Amino acid sequence: MNPELLSALNKQLNQELRNAYLYLAMAAYFDGLSLGGFAHYFKVQAREEVEHALRIYQFIVDRGQRVELDDIVLEKKNWSSILEAVRDFYEAEKSNTQRIWSLVDLARRTGDKAAEAFLQWFVNEQVEEEKSAMDLLAKVEMLKDNVVGILNLDRILAERK
Ligand code: MG
Repeated sequence: MNPELLSALNKQLNQELRNAYLYLAMAAYFDGLSLGGFAHYFKVQAREEVEHALRIYQFIVDRGQRVELDDIVLEKKNWSSILEAVRDFYEAEKSNTQRIWSLVDLARRTGDKAAEAFLQWFVNEQVEEEKSAMDLLAKVEMLKDNVVGILNLDRILAERK
């Protein structure tokens, strides 16, 4: 495999784990507010990110390459409002989409058809991820400081599978 592509895949693996860590930090923030539904939503999201990381892990191994685990550093682990946290969620997914797209460009540039095909799953997944984040953000923006509305949304989010 092209070394630049391998390094970028390893970096993306780290990024997915970093997002898992970020969403777990968000879950902790919401648990601290006694918003168990929001917390559950972000725990499920964190688990999904770990799965994304494992997909990349397996692809690297299947191609006979070495997985390199980097440090995970979060610049931010706390938020001052629900809106701020949910906005960061949406921003994290938007930038993840950009990273995936750059990876696709790199796979194409290096002529790696397998990597290109593998990454297509992530391209589609990011459409879903951005939509979920956008929906949640729209609802939180709509509710603003409506406590009853927030508690109701919390009950709905508790049902996420
Ligand atoms: Mg992901």
